[in-house]
Amino acid sequence: MKILKIAVQKSGRLNEQSLQLLKECGIAINNGNNRLKARASNFPVEVLFLRNSDIPQYIEDGVADISIIGENVVIEKQKNVRILEKLGFAKCRLSLAIPKNETYTGLNFFNGIKVATSYPNTLRKFLDENKLDTEIHEISGSVEIAPNIGLADSICDLVSSGSTLFSNGLKEVEVILKSEACLAVSQSIAPEIQLILDKLLFRIRSVMAARNNKYILLNAPNDKLEKIIDVLPGMKSPTIMPLADKNWSSLHSVINENDFWEVIDELKENGAQGILIIPIEKMVA
Ligand code: ATP
Ligand code: MG
Repeated sequence: MKILKIAVQKSGRLNEQSLQLLKECGIAINNGNNRLKARASNFPVEVLFLRNSDIPQYIEDGVADISIIGENVVIEKQKNVRILEKLGFAKCRLSLAIPKNETYTGLNFFNGIKVATSYPNTLRKFLDENKLDTEIHEISGSVEIAPNIGLADSICDLVSSGSTLFSNGLKEVEVILKSEACLAVSQSIAPEIQLILDKLLFRIRSVMAARNNKYILLNAPNDKLEKIIDVLPGMKSPTIMPLADKNWSSLHSVINENDFWEVIDELKENGAQGILIIPIEKMVA
């Protein structure tokens, strides 16, 4: 029996949400204390728990077939690895940041100074594209303290809220790359393994679609239904059911979570009442 080997971050920002995604895909793994790998009991996959930064190499070497990993790592490591699907979590950006009290004059600011980073390849490419003569000082962690201890003049690091930069007296001045967790795969997957991957991908897409959508129920007077259906964006024909009061109906549909906040006021203005928004477990197209 063939098994699909999935690499997941052993510990860190991606670990929990990666395992949560697999769980929602119906893949039951129990990672007893600190194991390096775990076999699912109900699906032909094995999960390998690895350092994030090592994963692209492991995929290139065939130790793992696929992985849940930040796009930023895939891009930085320049291995023979393909991004198959974005996964919508661990969103961040790779940015250049300088001391707060310095005046930023544009990209020329970086000419002739030293930038500390854990992403030398991605940064080098950006600097070359912009014809900047900047020295890269590679360090593997705690990049944000480099300017304070005199190791570099500025940094290039991952940012999400910006609070780490702020508390280290830095400000973000250029975004080099936007990233989120993705499904990264080996360029050479055996056909039997590809079949398992296709099944997994189908499940992942169903989970992701469900995460982005909500089930909506509302009550409305019959003469307002048409207007309300107009307001609800991009859906197929909604379900309409009569209420005990024969002048009223209940309307059921699926709505994108972001769209919901856009139209909520208009729904109320058009007489919608008792609006319920319910999470969806799985959504199969
Ligand atoms: P390793 O597993 O090799 O120790 P790491 O130390 O880079 O890797 P984390 O700091 O846990 O691991 O980050 C894992 C990933 O989380 C990053 O590669 C990135 O894709 C994502 N991420 C999202 N937001 C941030 C952020 N603000 N800072 C750092 N990483 C972030
Ligand atoms: Mg780490």
